[in-house]
Amino acid sequence: MEFEKILVVGAGQMGSGIAQVAAQAGIEVVMQDIDQKFVDRGLQVITKNLQRNVDKGKMAADEMAAVLGRIQGTTDLQDGADAQLVIEAIVENLDVKLQVFSKLEEICGPDTIFASNTSSLPITELAAGTKRPDKFIGMHFFNPPQVMQLIEVIRAIQTSPETFQAVEALAKRMGKTPVAVNDCPGFVVNRLVVPLINEAAFLLYEGIASAEDIDTCAKLGLNHPMGPLTLADFIGLDTIVYVLDVLYQGYGDPKYRCCPLLRKMVKAGYTGRKSGRGFYDYSK
Ligand code: NAD
Repeated sequence: MEFEKILVVGAGQMGSGIAQVAAQAGIEVVMQDIDQKFVDRGLQVITKNLQRNVDKGKMAADEMAAVLGRIQGTTDLQDGADAQLVIEAIVENLDVKLQVFSKLEEICGPDTIFASNTSSLPITELAAGTKRPDKFIGMHFFNPPQVMQLIEVIRAIQTSPETFQAVEALAKRMGKTPVAVNDCPGFVVNRLVVPLINEAAFLLYEGIASAEDIDTCAKLGLNHPMGPLTLADFIGLDTIVYVLDVLYQGYGDPKYRCCPLLRKMVKAGYTGRKSGRGFYDYSK
């Protein structure tokens, strides 16, 4: 199945980036959010991203106009009624997502594929909450979607091979690299990175090395572009603790127990760059 029209639900950080990537791949996009001000903010972010490409000579001005012309911002889900694919990128809350999919069930045709960009919720449970579990899939983009190359394409136990193939082909058409992932807590990327960050926090907590030296070890000893504690400050320590709890609950394995230092820092409001303080100080 070739997708001609996509409905992106949520025009935030991820939704706006996903809408941009799809429109750049030549697809008609309807980008919906609950309030016009969020739709406008999403459209502004896309315009700014594209303008930067034009200024750098990476995109022609008429191409930018064509990409923008393919994106329709709206607050009305009905505008996406004839989309062949929905990509949901709203708040990370199972009940809210299920409510939106149940509304979409009424609006979209029976063949429309539903994809969720969730970072941590079970795709299998979201699929089970719809009347089309075989046409439900995870499409996990990374932030910012217009820059990051990877898409985890997550198969629920109910996802049909046709649904998987169509979404995998779309990811390639978007110029991305899809990887096939069977639904599990944390998928692949978070299962790799979150325990690494947790271990780095334990090293600091136990007084084994300083934050700077732990990051230097990862950069110079593992060739990582960024140390795990610097990365944690970028992601947000509250998000790290949340994902660790998802992993711990999902597997019941003590290897995912959250370092007490991480929890203490979140309680103190030291959540990383966004609060001005995490493992490092960003107040200046
Ligand atoms: P965000 O807060 O920037 O954007 C969410 C948007 O959804 C907001 O504009 C909000 O108004 C809108 N929204 C909320 N309820 C809605 C509804 N019922 N209908 C339509 N729109 C609604 O959040 P984000 O960072 O873009 O994250 C969105 C999703 O993507 C989450 O599931 C998150 O887990 C996932 N995700 C986030 C990242 C990341 O790094 N930020 C990476 C991968 C996946």
